[in-house]
Amino acid sequence: MRKDNAFSLRGALKDRRKTMECISERNKSVCNCTYAGCPRKYKCCECLHYHRRSGELPACFFNSEYERTYDRSIGNFIRMHAR
Ligand code: SF4
Repeated sequence: MRKDNAFSLRGALKDRRKTMECISERNKSVCNCTYAGCPRKYKCCECLHYHRRSGELPACFFNSEYERTYDRSIGNFIRMHAR
């Protein structure tokens, strides 16, 4: 990799991190997840991919009663809406 490309890649990664921090700050106002120890908290893109890989939905798809069960399954989502 050429030196100037390395610098521009480093700059792009730094900008991306700044953008993620900025978006994470905004996401705090819409995140209802009560699982405190999660490293994906307020990083909606990572949260969505993580749960999608497991065939699940993120916390924000559930109301507070269903969210606090930590059951993020699609079955639980359907049960919530079937009531
Ligand atoms: S919904 Fe899941 S991935 Fe997203 S913040 Fe909560 S525990 Fe973490």
